[in-house]
Amino acid sequence: MLLFLYFCPMYINVFKFGGASVCSAEGIKNVARLLRQFNSSPLVVVVSAMGKTTNALEVLLNDYINKDPLAVVESFQKVWDYHFSIIGELFPDKDHIVYGEVDSLLNQLRGYIRKGHLYDDMPHSYDFEYDQVVSFGELISAAILQHYLVLEECPAKLLDVRDLVKTDSTYRDARVDWKTTETLIQDSIHGFFRESSRGTIALTQGFIGSDSEGNTTTLGREGSDFTAAIFAWCLQAKEMTIWKDVPGVMNADPKWMPDSVCLETLSYREAIELAYYGASVIHPKTIKPLENANIILRVRSFVNPDLPGTEIRNIREWKIQTPIYIRKQNQILISISPRDFSFIIEENLSEIFSILARFRVKVNVMQNSAISFSICVDADPQKIKPLIEFLRRDYETRYNEGLELFTVRHYSEDAMVPVLNGRKTLMELRSRHTIQVVVQ
Ligand code: ASP
Ligand code: MG
Repeated sequence: MLLFLYFCPMYINVFKFGGASVCSAEGIKNVARLLRQFNSSPLVVVVSAMGKTTNALEVLLNDYINKDPLAVVESFQKVWDYHFSIIGELFPDKDHIVYGEVDSLLNQLRGYIRKGHLYDDMPHSYDFEYDQVVSFGELISAAILQHYLVLEECPAKLLDVRDLVKTDSTYRDARVDWKTTETLIQDSIHGFFRESSRGTIALTQGFIGSDSEGNTTTLGREGSDFTAAIFAWCLQAKEMTIWKDVPGVMNADPKWMPDSVCLETLSYREAIELAYYGASVIHPKTIKPLENANIILRVRSFVNPDLPGTEIRNIREWKIQTPIYIRKQNQILISISPRDFSFIIEENLSEIFSILARFRVKVNVMQNSAISFSICVDADPQKIKPLIEFLRRDYETRYNEGLELFTVRHYSEDAMVPVLNGRKTLMELRSRHTIQVVVQ
């Protein structure tokens, strides 16, 4: 028996808490309550920025890039007030070290954006600046959560994820250097659980990493799920759980379809398809590492932790219970034709794709006819305006804004009624299991 215990491998679980779970003092108290229930086995916890902080930091970044000092001050103040009002509620002792720590992080951020007016031309790219500014959201939230857990006698130590998740220098969409990251995570986390007292949680930031120069990078919006999957894969974790404000993976966004239902199980394959088509419940890069290591992924409710949630695992013959709807708003349909009305040929397509790659625009759906090629993409003004300008050098380029893209998996004619609902369809693509429609 002793021998068995000695060789018994250490099973680690990985939890991820998104912005919605830590958006208020109440939310953080709830996360602490939940973690106290689950810290009997080794636990790695990945946390995102609080509430809509990432959006607020994007606004601040744009004010800084636009060299608008008044707007910078205002946007910065909002971020400051939001965090200080939360810690004010959580830590009645105003001498608690969390005040100094959050103050110091926000001052670093302020120092960074102040230098904006020093340059006529920015010395770095927008994407580089993005990662340096926006990453503060995760640095601050993890610091606050760690101190609160300790205050509530739920021992937790903070590991700076930038020392563990190493990436290339594709700012805003960094690629993970898996080999280096695996070694760093294994060494530090196994060491952590060996050396820490029982029940101590390893807490770290989602979404961010660092490149070989030591600059902060980010993994793409909503990337904290992926961070959790990186840890789960590197540690061969038993399970990974994403805690959400919904009961699990729903067959449709409950805000759009009030009678949506929670799916009890999903195969990895189906989950990958859903994430690929834009289901916002799971970040697209999350599933593959988990599937490769056969790690169960649970999506559970932090509002109601007694609910079973959705279990995603290797199921050969997964049987669909209901159609699944993925709705993407704020879409733009761009149609591209050669100026001389000649046919769209392979050379055109290859050129168009390389332009899309250059502007880092992801295509949500595409279709071609004899003389035009149409793509439906997210209406991100930072990327789309310069893209269209560039395309117009060689192609007749038209676009339609303010559209929605619906993807329906396991569709039927009946299933399409709530989607079409008398709306004008601008594009439709069908395969055996999936239909995609762009509607006005
Ligand atoms: N805070 C980042 C974002 O909002 C990462 C995440 O939430 O997963 O995109
Ligand atoms: Mg977030």
